[in-house]
Amino acid sequence: MEIMKTVEDMQQWCLIQKRAGRSIGLVPTMGYLHEGHLALVRQARQNCDIVIVSIFVNPIQFGTGEDFDEYPRDLTRDSEVLRQERVDAIFAPLASDMYPRGFNTYVEVFGDVTEKLCARSRPGHFKGVTTVCSKLFHICQPDRAYFGQKDAQQLLVMQKMVRDLNFPLEIVPVPIVREPDGLAMSSRNVYLSPEERRQALVLYQSLQEAQKLINSGERKVETIKGLIRDCIESSPLARIDYIEIYDADDLSDIEEIDGRALIALAVKFGNTRLIDNLLVEV
Ligand code: AMP
Repeated sequence: MEIMKTVEDMQQWCLIQKRAGRSIGLVPTMGYLHEGHLALVRQARQNCDIVIVSIFVNPIQFGTGEDFDEYPRDLTRDSEVLRQERVDAIFAPLASDMYPRGFNTYVEVFGDVTEKLCARSRPGHFKGVTTVCSKLFHICQPDRAYFGQKDAQQLLVMQKMVRDLNFPLEIVPVPIVREPDGLAMSSRNVYLSPEERRQALVLYQSLQEAQKLINSGERKVETIKGLIRDCIESSPLARIDYIEIYDADDLSDIEEIDGRALIALAVKFGNTRLIDNLLVEV
């Protein structure tokens, strides 16, 4: 397994792979890997000749006051895990190589997909994500890039960017991987105190309650959101950022569920902001 630390080395290596006719799968991550990330890696391993995992805590997708400095990092452990998954290369660049002095070009997707949900509490976040992923796509030239349904909005933004700008690659969605008790896996779960960790289960429980209500025939978005709110508010440590239900394909507003809908939550426990979601179809 190669570990590339410069843009130039990574780009050269990818060019050689492309010229040899090998298909490339890219898994963009911020590291501190868990089973959620590994689901993406395993999917890529099945579909592609070459698997590249990028590990880069991207400074431009963090706002002021967010957790860029504290974000957990462990490249040694991550490398060991990825070696066992038979990954071909890790790309772990320095921020100063990705954003050298004078860097001043950004890629931004507009519309509902970047104006709702996380965009409201994290202004500039998606512009940082689309810019870094554009760079990663140009450097690694993947045939496929793998993104988790855990970050459902990010997935929609990526699909739209690739479609709108004709990037020659396929965005492959991978389902959410959860802890045995239902909490969606996240590198940020390590921030939770034992009591916060216990109460954080309410995210998944509220989504399951919503699914039951929908199965029983309820379609009204306001009623379903009300049930989720009551459920989450039963946890004293939970502070709701948003509970929303939108059209699953473009995040447009809906009053009733008819077709595919995305139920998306963001809830803070202490300083830790957790997100979770459920795709429903009626
Ligand atoms: P991150 O390192 O948090 O930026 O995540 C890198 C990729 O892994 C993103 O595409 C995430 O959506 C995906 N991912 C993170 N956690 C999970 C999870 N629990 N299940 C599935 N995919 C995940």
